[in-house]
Amino acid sequence: MRRIAIVGAGLAGFSAGQELRRLGFDGDLTVIGAEPHRPYRRPPLSKEHLLGESDLSLRGADELGAAWRLGRAATGLDLERRAVLVGEAAIGFDGLVIATGLRAKSLPEGTALPGVHFLRGLDDARGLRREIEARPRTVVVGGGFIGSETAATLRGLGLEVTLISGRPVLRSALGAEVGAIAEAMHREHGVEVRTGRMAGVSGTGRVERVHLQDGGTVTADLVVAALGAEPETEWLRGTGLGDGDGVMVGADGLVAPGIAAAGDVARWPHPLHSGRTLRIEHYANAAEQGAHAARALLGGIGPYTPLPNFWSHLYGRRLQAVGFTGADCESRLVAQEPGHRFMAEYRHRGRLVGVAAAGFARAMPEYRQRIAQALAPVAETAEGPPDTGVVSGGPTSQRADERAG
Ligand SMILES: Cc1cc2nc3c(=O)[nH]c(=O)nc-3n(C[C@H](O)[C@H](O)[C@H](O)COP(=O)(O)OP(=O)(O)OC[C@H]3O[C@@H](n4cnc5c(N)ncnc54)[C@H](O)[C@@H]3O)c2cc1C
Repeated sequence: MRRIAIVGAGLAGFSAGQELRRLGFDGDLTVIGAEPHRPYRRPPLSKEHLLGESDLSLRGADELGAAWRLGRAATGLDLERRAVLVGEAAIGFDGLVIATGLRAKSLPEGTALPGVHFLRGLDDARGLRREIEARPRTVVVGGGFIGSETAATLRGLGLEVTLISGRPVLRSALGAEVGAIAEAMHREHGVEVRTGRMAGVSGTGRVERVHLQDGGTVTADLVVAALGAEPETEWLRGTGLGDGDGVMVGADGLVAPGIAAAGDVARWPHPLHSGRTLRIEHYANAAEQGAHAARALLGGIGPYTPLPNFWSHLYGRRLQAVGFTGADCESRLVAQEPGHRFMAEYRHRGRLVGVAAAGFARAMPEYRQRIAQALAPVAETAEGPPDTGVVSGGPTSQRADERAG
């Protein structure tokens, strides 16, 4: 294999590139990225990066020895010619890594107005930050991780914030008890939390109101639409390799001969899911699976069987989770202390499959071990735990749109 193309200059793609070089691949490496930026860390975008510009770049891009083709999205994949299409250009490859992540779900057509923002990339965060300076009355729509974090960060800046969520905040990702704690945190910090679904927005030349399906209206100078996210697979249309649910990766780590996929866009049969497929929308997974994709391309490795783990931040509290915490698990608070410190366990068919906690960092390594042990027989007998299609922010079943909303 002399030429490898990576489509998607995010964490998964970058991690794949680094692992290829680490394994001794010294051929041509081309990284094609839709954004004009080299790989950067996305998690701060809904957190500290809204407070002020900081350097989010991932170290090591200069040393990768790659040709960076940034600022233009891949528009197609020609499987016969084995080439990625970027407009008129065709970039030939012997090996390919698909790492195009997700895009934020947009508003229904005709309802977008100036003052309505999405939050997926660095430029989105910059646009949002420019607006914040005018101290607008802000409505965040979507009570998943991104909506919840954004509401907390903007409230921390002293803005008037209303958080509108179709379901109780964080509930489908982390269960009713943890969702209730998150919601209480928002209220205590002065965020108005409303359960409801957005019907649309209106205003003269700029957003002025958010309309709810129940007929209610909320005044807004700024709206952050954190409505969920969907896999970036448009460019693969006609190839049979991707659909609205991502790109299916086989047990050998490959999508097709010489083609691997990783990160938020990738779906694969996880042994802990007894052949059912799963997609993980978390940072740690993008890094690990990117490296796994590189190993798969260079030949023969075992299945990818990570234990999901992720973190989130709310009002200075770091929330951590390990394993499966989605809606089809039974959740139970096993510790709750002042200051919104808590620990919740998640069980599936009576078996411990996940934990989420804030303020109990020291207990996490032991839990991780316990969960891995509890799930080990599941992997062997292939009698899976939660029927969760997406671990997003997890998110999820936990559902695909949890992190984003
Ligand atoms: C605001 C925010 C906060 C988050 N916070 C957390 C957190 O606290 N904890 C956590 O665990 N996870 C968090 N995440 C999730 C985490 O950042 C993602 O799981 C991770 O970035 C996924 O990496 P990826 O490389 O798969 O996808 P991405 O990071 O989305 O990268 C994909 C790249 O591919 C590019 N691309 C798309 N289509 C094309 C195309 N056709 N051609 C070329 N390039 C293309 C995109 O522009 C993008 O640059 C957060 C995500 C967001 C958006």
